[in-house]
Amino acid sequence: MTSTSELVARRIREQRRVRMAMNSIRAEERAKLKGGKEAVAWVKEEQCIGCDQCTIVCGDDAIELYDKPLLSPIINVDVNRKAKVLRDPCTGCKLCVLACPTDAIIMIDR
Ligand code: SF4
Ligand code: SF4
Repeated sequence: MTSTSELVARRIREQRRVRMAMNSIRAEERAKLKGGKEAVAWVKEEQCIGCDQCTIVCGDDAIELYDKPLLSPIINVDVNRKAKVLRDPCTGCKLCVLACPTDAIIMIDR
């Protein structure tokens, strides 16, 4: 019968394997990202959780947060914020895409 310590070791090996696979997929996706002056960042509003990470990394002040009323009237929270990219100051550097924890930002043609 498999012991507890063997199960723990197997779990750690599997976690490592999955993490490496996911890192590899993300690295490929990042390598394919378009950027530079021909591109501009775009926020998919439904995926944005208003965490502020993108505004912290954006050195060009090209991202603003705005308040958005919740769709559901039964949920009551003080603040529900979303990010939006200002096209003109965005330099297409892609830093916000890399920083966003929910993959809410994509790069599109300018
Ligand atoms: S980092 Fe992503 S989830 Fe967080 S505020 Fe910016 S777009 Fe929204
Ligand atoms: S691509 Fe760069 S300049 Fe444009 S919004 Fe993202 S971090 Fe700011």
